[in-house]
Amino acid sequence: MSAYSKDVIRELVEGTLPWPQTRRIMSAYKDDDRFDKYISVLQDRVAWDDPILLPVGDRLFICDGGEGRVTRCECGHSFGDYRENWKLKAVINVRNTEASLREIYPNSDLPDPDWMEIREFFCPACAHLHEVEAAAPGYPIVHDFQPDLEGFYRDWLGKPLGKPGKETA
Ligand code: ZN
Repeated sequence: MSAYSKDVIRELVEGTLPWPQTRRIMSAYKDDDRFDKYISVLQDRVAWDDPILLPVGDRLFICDGGEGRVTRCECGHSFGDYRENWKLKAVINVRNTEASLREIYPNSDLPDPDWMEIREFFCPACAHLHEVEAAAPGYPIVHDFQPDLEGFYRDWLGKPLGKPGKETA
């Protein structure tokens, strides 16, 4: 039963749900073209034409670019191969002092900067804040989403993922 119109999916998208949550909602129903509608809404929102394969954040996507499958900001900026940690190519702001932490915790207890820092990851082109992580100082930058694209398309969507755009087999 195809209960979800593109409008409903658009609302889902504009609620800026993170992908794992969105996927959970979507997979709670059987609606074969829901993912296609979802992707088509996202595709309408971006100014570029490279096909979106998977959203990884509210304004961050894996897409099939001319240079292979890349992580791309809504603004068009490419963070490179999707299997690499896009955060390493972001502009990173680290809050590891009481003063800088106070800016984001104005009314509550501060984390102890000796034990925890806040890292903010911005797009170098449009300055959108894509992700925030809390970690112990010195702890490596987390690559928290490394999807099995082929497996997702094959097992969950039931359709194979084609070869990356300009790559030749
Ligand atoms: Zn951007």
